Amino acid sequence: MTKAIVVKAPGGPEAMSYEDVEVGKPGKGQVLLRHKAIGVNFIDVYHRSGLYPLPTPFTPGSEGAGDVVAVGEGVTNVAVGDRVAYGTSRGSYCAERLIEAAQLVKLPPSISYETGAAMMLKGLTAQYLLRQTFPVKAGDTILVHAAAGGVGLILCQWARALGCTVIGTVGSNDKAKLASEAGAHHVILYREENFAARVKEITGGKLCDVVYDGVGKDTFPASLDCIRPLGMFVSFGNASGPVEAFNLGLLSQKGSLFATRPTLFTYASTPERLRAMADDLMQAIASGAVKIDVHARYKLADVAQCHRDLESRKTTGASVLVP
Ligand code: NDP
Repeated sequence: MTKAIVVKAPGGPEAMSYEDVEVGKPGKGQVLLRHKAIGVNFIDVYHRSGLYPLPTPFTPGSEGAGDVVAVGEGVTNVAVGDRVAYGTSRGSYCAERLIEAAQLVKLPPSISYETGAAMMLKGLTAQYLLRQTFPVKAGDTILVHAAAGGVGLILCQWARALGCTVIGTVGSNDKAKLASEAGAHHVILYREENFAARVKEITGGKLCDVVYDGVGKDTFPASLDCIRPLGMFVSFGNASGPVEAFNLGLLSQKGSLFATRPTLFTYASTPERLRAMADDLMQAIASGAVKIDVHARYKLADVAQCHRDLESRKTTGASVLVP
């Protein structure tokens, strides 16, 4: 038996209960993993609320780090005692779990469990956004919404290291300070200022090569006004609610723009892709270009409070749960 968070029906933070559940033994290709830290992401809120429906009952969470305590038949990439992390396997809000070994990446001694649990889903997301969806190059100007959030702080650091001019939007002065420290050259308080007008001013009318938008409803369609002709709109999340009724014609009106709605689960869909992305992320961390700090810790049993804080825009950077 182990402790796990269980959602029996979608709903608010109270829909998550802390329960004893059976874990079982690892089957073929699986590992029994004991979590030391569990990453919290906005997608966990969408699963809990039912915005992204899942069959019930389920254990939320897709990110974690810990120790391999047993391996099933045919597992060769990890062994008992290895420190590992993952970011693309649902069911992480628990003390122990079974997981496909192919999902796991070994943690080098220099990376703590907490950082491991905070960096996989968020860091791999930053990896594909900056290196694959719209591969940025030195001299590009990019707009990052929610720049002081979990993904946002990583995007700011990494993009700056790649030579971009980074413009970030944030919801408060404290967050503005964090985004600047992470590398944003310009920070816009988008709850007070018209961010599209500010982007135009900052760029001298040239606008951005790409907008990375994880906010969704509240920043649409103004995000399109921040993009130069033939630039790209990357809508990768909906913290304020989903973008609805997307009119393709807007892309032509705003200058033959490209638009995509990507997800990490497609980009990391094979073990080879996942490994290549994780290697790139590890390198960015090892070189010092990207630093992933954990800003808040909660007990696993207190996950409801963690979700309340995330949804009410109180959190910055990464939060983790400790079993
Ligand atoms: P964050 O830490 O960025 O938290 C969300 C932030 O969004 C808040 O802190 C807040 O920052 C901002 N925000 C703006 N409007 C609202 C609102 N109405 N309610 C709540 N928050 C709001 O979360 P994550 O780093 O976990 O994720 C960021 C985004 O990236 C999410 O949309 C998530 O779904 C998406 N994502 C997508 C992935 C993909 O592959 N497609 C993978 C990973 C994440 P502020 O106060 O500064 O406005």
